[in-house]
Amino acid sequence: MAKERMDGTWLAFWKAKSLSTGGKEVLIKWCNKDKPHAIHWLHWDLLCLSKPLGGLGFQDLEAFNSTLLAKHAWHFQVQKTGLLYQLFKAKYFPSASFLDTSLGSNPSWGWLSIWSTQALLCQGVYSLIGNGSSTHVWKDHWEILKVHISRWDKQDEVIWRPERSGRFSVRSAYKLAISMSNFAGASLLPCPWSSIWRCRTLSKVQRFLWCCCLHAAPVRVALLDRGCVVSPLCPRCGLQEESIVHLMFSCTHSLQKTILSSDFADALSLIYFCVWSIWKARNRLVFEGFLWQPEVVVKKAVASFWEFYDARSLRFSVQDDSVLNLVDLWCLPPSGIVKCNFDSSFYRPSLQGGGGAVFRDFREVVLQAVIFRPFSASSALEAEALVCQRAVLCAMRLGFSCLWSESDALVVVNGVTHRETCPLDIASICFDISRDQRVF
Ligand SMILES: [Zn+2]
Repeated sequence: MAKERMDGTWLAFWKAKSLSTGGKEVLIKWCNKDKPHAIHWLHWDLLCLSKPLGGLGFQDLEAFNSTLLAKHAWHFQVQKTGLLYQLFKAKYFPSASFLDTSLGSNPSWGWLSIWSTQALLCQGVYSLIGNGSSTHVWKDHWEILKVHISRWDKQDEVIWRPERSGRFSVRSAYKLAISMSNFAGASLLPCPWSSIWRCRTLSKVQRFLWCCCLHAAPVRVALLDRGCVVSPLCPRCGLQEESIVHLMFSCTHSLQKTILSSDFADALSLIYFCVWSIWKARNRLVFEGFLWQPEVVVKKAVASFWEFYDARSLRFSVQDDSVLNLVDLWCLPPSGIVKCNFDSSFYRPSLQGGGGAVFRDFREVVLQAVIFRPFSASSALEAEALVCQRAVLCAMRLGFSCLWSESDALVVVNGVTHRETCPLDIASICFDISRDQRVF
């Protein structure tokens, strides 16, 4: 009912008058209606790419559908006792695995649908090496360089590589499907898309910058290219054609010098506000016949910048206060239990980790304090997990029979206690810790 109303004149009214650029984007994602007279600025497939790849992250229904089907194919990898798997296996791939099998002649519609996701599965399914016994070195996807080899006899595991937990998710599979589309490869422009979307500015400013980078901002040259009957001359100076480069950098009214002489800490953010302000001034001239002087344009950009900056600072200061309330104090363990506090450090330039641990009893007496030698690690998380492992081994050597460990690394602690939520890069370490700590 609501959708029908949105399809009618109300939708056109809202799109034109009420919604911000960001709001329109959301509305288009929800419901797109073709208009014969609308200008097609960019290819739909490009809009379906994720923002880091240069698109706007619009939903591609075909890719989404195949992602849902891929979920069934994933179950073929991890639930080989299921009835559905047994049926399909017996009929379509009795002597091969799902990832290797061909479609075969006379496939059923169900099999055709699931088989169509094979290429997607092949990209995402990996083997997490344990003892190596069930991994085929030449055929399977596997990775061992970053994996710590377990000291226990850990079995190989089928994992979904795009997800940090190693478990299949529709969200990560959809992203993978989009990145595999033909358009994704062809449209990877050398543009720092992420810096646009991460920049501290308003979403309408970000979207305008995105349009500029794709030559999709409606300046005169772009309008002419798309069949609109307009003069290509710049409406500000009337001397040259109006392209984005001309408008921002070479027009006689260009504000580069004024902008660059300003001394601001967050210069990039301010520049983006200035770009937005130039665009607004240009539109004011074209549609209302009103010319803003360069000083006014800069003033408006600076005012918007500070307004935005102040609003953000206020928000962050409120959050900081709430964080302080969460700080807990160290508390004593019960009698007979040794409490271990450990923490790690990580130095990214040399990929080195370090750390230490303190063991105290129920009277708060320090029984032992240790510092671990620097070791190689690929991330702060891995350093934290390795320090945890060393702390547990150290407690075993010192002969403590009952140990409580305490750390601020929630991911590692959860990884040891709930292995299914453990990130892949520390899975082997957490597995070993959980085995080692059984003595306590
Ligand atoms: Zn000009």
